[in-house]
Amino acid sequence: MNTIKSNLTLQVIIAMLAGITVGLLLNISGLNSTGSFVNEYIVNGLFQGIGKLFINALKMLVVPLVLFSLICGVCGIGNLSILGRVGMKSFLLYILTTAIAVATAILFATTTGIGQGMQASATASFSAKEAPALIDVLTNIIPTNPIAAMANGEMLQVIFFAILLGISILMVGRKAKSLIEGAELANEVMMKMVSIVMAAAPYAVFALIAKAMAELGFDLLSVLAGYVLVLIAALMFHLFGTLMVLLKLLSGLSPMRFIRKMRNVQVFAFSTSSSNATIPVTIRTVTERLGVNNSVASFTVPFGATINMDGTAIMQGVATVFIANVYAVHLGLTDYLVVIAMAVLASIGTAGVPGVGLIMLSMVFVQVGLPVEGIGLILGVDRLLDMIRTAVNVSGDSVVSVIVAKSEGKLNETIYNDPMAGVTSDTIKLDQAVENEMANVIETLHSRQ
Ligand code: ASP
Repeated sequence: MNTIKSNLTLQVIIAMLAGITVGLLLNISGLNSTGSFVNEYIVNGLFQGIGKLFINALKMLVVPLVLFSLICGVCGIGNLSILGRVGMKSFLLYILTTAIAVATAILFATTTGIGQGMQASATASFSAKEAPALIDVLTNIIPTNPIAAMANGEMLQVIFFAILLGISILMVGRKAKSLIEGAELANEVMMKMVSIVMAAAPYAVFALIAKAMAELGFDLLSVLAGYVLVLIAALMFHLFGTLMVLLKLLSGLSPMRFIRKMRNVQVFAFSTSSSNATIPVTIRTVTERLGVNNSVASFTVPFGATINMDGTAIMQGVATVFIANVYAVHLGLTDYLVVIAMAVLASIGTAGVPGVGLIMLSMVFVQVGLPVEGIGLILGVDRLLDMIRTAVNVSGDSVVSVIVAKSEGKLNETIYNDPMAGVTSDTIKLDQAVENEMANVIETLHSRQ
């Protein structure tokens, strides 16, 4: 039988390294110059095409997966007060980690003094898109039309509807048993679809990363080296320092295990630049590899992908200090507090999709009186930074999922500590025996008619 086993993670990492190498070679050698064959047919043709197919496939899974797993999750918990507690704990942890993230970023940026003495010359013009008002975000949590919410991928609305549906199924009780069984089955089928899509990951990751690297602007990277380096340093500090200390302190679990098992999810987030598109992989890893019960993960992961963005908050902290220095605007303590509050609110109000961090940044700039055009200065290097911060965003979601699950007794530590857990469950080929069995079932059904 053909299975994709432990080597999927390895394959994905090799694909990532190969993508970085090929992309950089295309870039440095000049082969990817505008109008060239490579640029038109390979980078913006083949690579872009493969990458788009894969991201579409991942996005295709998000809504049905979240819907079914959340219905199962709510019914699995079976107790409204526990449900409320899981919701409250994850919400508070998400806010706490985002606030720490942006505070760390401000500290890193102010101590290094990045941007001081630099000439303000925007490399690209930036006009801010409208960010949603917080009151709208809050009232919009209840969808007027759940089908429209699903069609538009409005995650908070889908989450609300699925939870209410799950609670109602629970209240109907015994009569609704087959509905619960149906949801369990649908969830299992969706997880199988995730495995099928993930089998294509090595090729897609290669294509996505090679394209991004081929398009890197090196001139700009060197001009903005200070900004880029300080930002990456703050992101790494948060990922390997703050989050791991929180994990150890609040759950007592091994950070090393966590980091090893998260590699796959991080590469997916890195190559897609979207916490939302990564939801299927995050749910799968958090439940099957880290042992978080689906009743917790089905809620914390999509919720986190929407409202928790530690990496993005770090970008905002560093970018604010950087632009303030470039434009020689003095920011005081109150301004920094405003930045922290805005970064937290903005991450609640905006979804985890590529580039959304810049929209959030414009909200922060308006509040502290920095010129929004300043964002044009960092626009050129944002593509790469978006990839890195998205990997930090999904790691934050997963850390909180593990902590909440542990505190609720919903974490299977045997799975968490088993390096091979969840690795071998990726059977994507139809078993001949299963195939025959299904054919028999269908034949029996037909002969009954
Ligand atoms: N791409 C990020 C995410 O999906 C958001 C951002 O920082 O732009 O998590």
